[in-house]
Amino acid sequence: MKNLFDLTGRKALITGSAQGIGHLLAQGLAEHGAEIIINDITQERAEKAAGELVKQGFKASGIAFDVTNKTEVEKAVRQIEQEIGEIDILINNAGIQRRHPFLEFPEKEWDDVINVNQKAVFLMMQAVGKYMVKRQRGKIINIGSMQSELGRDTITPYAASKGAVKMLTRGGCVELARHNIQVNGIAPGYFITELTKPLVDNEEFTSWLCKRTPANRWGNPDELIGAAVYLSAPASDFVNGHLLFVDGGMLAAV
Ligand code: NAP
Repeated sequence: MKNLFDLTGRKALITGSAQGIGHLLAQGLAEHGAEIIINDITQERAEKAAGELVKQGFKASGIAFDVTNKTEVEKAVRQIEQEIGEIDILINNAGIQRRHPFLEFPEKEWDDVINVNQKAVFLMMQAVGKYMVKRQRGKIINIGSMQSELGRDTITPYAASKGAVKMLTRGGCVELARHNIQVNGIAPGYFITELTKPLVDNEEFTSWLCKRTPANRWGNPDELIGAAVYLSAPASDFVNGHLLFVDGGMLAAV
């Protein structure tokens, strides 16, 4: 019987995957058979992260490009397609956070957040999507957030960008599903990574978070791997435009 979760022979490009959630997803997809292409802004970090996978016997390479730069994105995607092979799975994971009260939020930092979290998803979906359409198959997974649905103090631009990720996912589904491309998203709750370090270190926040989350704890990033494997694999071939919340039940609770 066909293994619905087997990724053998599939190539997965994961943006911003030299560390954090992206790196764990790279590890998880590799363990399910995928060849991994790690992206980071610096070649050194991309190669180092890919090297860690290669040391474990997986196939992986690292490629540096800035996901917010259309020219760099198109050049890198072309290079991967020609030199490494067809991108079967794209995970738009690169993301940044900036925190300020809304009325004082600096315009420059608004632009930075929107460019990395929102515009880059558009650029990546467009660049890789064109190759996927030619092949009439592909999997695109966009990393959203609780803030795809919920607002929160001091991070309104982040919430605006992650709300947009939800709609890029639905819009992408509407336009690409007819080409046998599945565009879905994963919306992580609160996970312990570099991005959330200021919150993890804040006892008051951690106590609030545990009370607010039905599971009563922070998430461990490796608990996102199952969702990523599912949305990358044949198991999800008729799942499209869906945002899968992996949040310990947070969105279900008031
Ligand atoms: P992280 O540890 O800060 O990792 C983000 C990665 O994105 C970094 O490796 C960063 O590289 C890279 N990146 C930033 N700008 C880039 C650019 N212009 N081009 C290429 N790469 C770039 O964050 P994380 O917590 O793993 O978050 C990963 C994703 O999950 C993000 O989309 C985030 O919004 C989302 N998320 C996280 C949580 C959580 O609890 N951690 C919850 C919900 C959603 P540099 O470090 O070199 O800049």
